[in-house]
Amino acid sequence: MFSLAGQKALIVGIANDQSIAYGCARAMRQMGADIAVTYLNEKAERFVRPIAEELEAEIFMPLDVSRPGELEALYAEIGSKWGRLDTLLHSIAFCPKEDLHGRVVDCSSEGFGLAMDISVHSFLRMIRLAEPLMHEGGTCMTVSFYGSEKVVEHYNVMGPVKAALESVVRYAAAEMGPKGISVHALSPGPLKTRAASGIAEFDDLLNAAAARAPTHMLATIDDVGAYAAFLASREAFNVTGGVHPIDGGYSIVG
Ligand code: NAD
Repeated sequence: MFSLAGQKALIVGIANDQSIAYGCARAMRQMGADIAVTYLNEKAERFVRPIAEELEAEIFMPLDVSRPGELEALYAEIGSKWGRLDTLLHSIAFCPKEDLHGRVVDCSSEGFGLAMDISVHSFLRMIRLAEPLMHEGGTCMTVSFYGSEKVVEHYNVMGPVKAALESVVRYAAAEMGPKGISVHALSPGPLKTRAASGIAEFDDLLNAAAARAPTHMLATIDDVGAYAAFLASREAFNVTGGVHPIDGGYSIVG
């Protein structure tokens, strides 16, 4: 039905082969997109490099969004090598452990600010830099979670952070719509990834989600990838501003 042949996709957030971003990149590559992959730092590079090779990534660069200049250098390389960008996937989040594990009301100002900057504001920075490269329109996606809407035990301050991220999706979609750029949040059910291992009692959350979801199955990174690949396609051009649950129906059951 759809193809991403000839499209250029920037994928931010691959840490290893369990990352949601990897599932998305693999699906987009299978549909024909050319891929740019980033890695957090030198330590992460050796885990991400084989994945970038498997994806035949044309651009492979470091990106820590808290390091001044790295995002600009990445987009400069995309501009000079590709001259355009069709799809951006922002699949990153961070919160200092002590703030993540405490009550929301006890979260420090520094921790709150850092979590918002890395998990939310970085998406705005990426969209802003993508805008001039998406001259034929494009798709910007981020990754949220149901804890934005409802209180999920142990998700703590990431709930308000994801609520802000989803609001950013709506405002950015309104601002970018006239340029043919769509903005989305993918919202997978819980998945066993490196980031998720920072959340206390995560295995209980996984088991509870599988029991509660109408399908009784947890979403996989391939499920998320297939959905993301469709949203990246031209056929999805008139879909924007939404939060898309990919969770076996977990979020509809009260
Ligand atoms: P992951 O650990 O594989 O990916 C998280 C990524 O964030 C890593 O690649 C890491 O390098 C990157 N990152 C952290 N700080 C960064 C920084 N300063 N600069 C650049 N990159 C940085 O885990 P994941 O579960 O695939 O997480 C991806 C996204 O999905 C996150 O936004 C997460 O909140 C969201 N999410 C995860 C789940 C889940 O259950 N795993 C569910 C819903 C949403």
